[in-house]
Amino acid sequence: MSFKDLQLNKPILRAIAETGYDEPTLVQEKTIPFVLNKKDVIVSAQTGTGKTASFALPILQLLFDKQDASKKGKKIRALIVSPTRELAIQIGENFKNYSTYTNLRSTVIYGGTSMEPQIDILKKGVDILIATPGRLLDLHKQDIANLDYIETLVLDEADLMLDMGFIDDVKKIERLCTKEKQILLFSATIPYKVEQLANTILKAPERIEVAPNSSTSKNINQTLYYVPKRNKIELCLHVLRNTIKGSILIFRRTKFGVQKLEQTLIKNGYRVDSIHGDKSQNLRQAALKDFKSNNVNILIATDVAARGIDINNLDAVINFDLPNVPETYVHRIGRTARAGNTGAAYSFCSADEKNYVKTIQQLIQIQIDVIKDHPYPLDPKEKPIIHKSKKTGSKYKKGRKSEASKKKKKRWY
Ligand code: AMP
Repeated sequence: MSFKDLQLNKPILRAIAETGYDEPTLVQEKTIPFVLNKKDVIVSAQTGTGKTASFALPILQLLFDKQDASKKGKKIRALIVSPTRELAIQIGENFKNYSTYTNLRSTVIYGGTSMEPQIDILKKGVDILIATPGRLLDLHKQDIANLDYIETLVLDEADLMLDMGFIDDVKKIERLCTKEKQILLFSATIPYKVEQLANTILKAPERIEVAPNSSTSKNINQTLYYVPKRNKIELCLHVLRNTIKGSILIFRRTKFGVQKLEQTLIKNGYRVDSIHGDKSQNLRQAALKDFKSNNVNILIATDVAARGIDINNLDAVINFDLPNVPETYVHRIGRTARAGNTGAAYSFCSADEKNYVKTIQQLIQIQIDVIKDHPYPLDPKEKPIIHKSKKTGSKYKKGRKSEASKKKKKRWY
């Protein structure tokens, strides 16, 4: 199927061609016709499937067909609600790209940054608004964001939105829009609470499911290291020194963990940055930019901060902490080995995480290769191989402290 078959008009087709897309992805093929027919939809699709364009393109097409003449009189007719600032910004970039050859205007509003520039743009008039829930409600309260003319409402990453506690905000936003609007709900997974939300606000929705996220690419070399929790940092340094090269994304469960690892890697001379919930918006954007432009080659992130962000084509992913949700594993490592490239995924499993390995392996139906010859085995019967390089040795080298002093020390993890 081609984009032309999807009944998209010339200005949109031209922008798509210039972006470099040859043909629609599966989720686009399935979703675009329903959206153009003004149906409500529930789409279960992960980031990376092309889901953003699957709502952005038909929304632009629908709005294009009845464009307002003047800038000033523009009313917000499409609203996209996104749980995180980064995602909102990314969606905004997509809309800007695809609308290059139209007069449709879009903008992004999100918290953690000054309201004034956002207010100025809204006052000038936009057709499409991409927003995080809190800032949207703020600006609505101030009569800056008028939702009386919304024709299409998109709830993106609905499962994350609910996980982050936005349920009441989302319901409120839905009520503030017109009754007749079309609703498009996108979610990586459809747990009960998303289903419940859909039942209360969607009208006879079409359901679209894309690529159940249980399979991992054959091009990813997956390996597993069993390691005591206290030695994970040493193992990470060992793997970085001896095994991995290129651009690397490291996942940690908590923002505290991200910060600790970042400090250690910087002390050891690595070019590192991080994204997590405690960082200001500007710092998070700067970190992403530095990573994408290769100023730093290691990015450390929590799942929530990295969710949906377009960081692909990685050489390796390190699961410093294993995720307790097996789909998250698939999602994390899916960021490497894109477009026929090869990639590597390294997972560090401590004693308390063994069950996670079990559920991950059940999901992906693969027995992950266990690397035994490393200096920090979990099972003491396995003889450790002492890392001999003196030049690159760090203060974290095994043997620096006695076992007794290690035990006494209060660990941050
Ligand atoms: P998304 O799932 O929306 O985050 O999109 C993931 C990536 O796929 C983004 O980098 C998009 O630019 C890209 N993409 C979206 N649609 C297509 C397409 N039809 N062909 C090639 N790449 C695409």
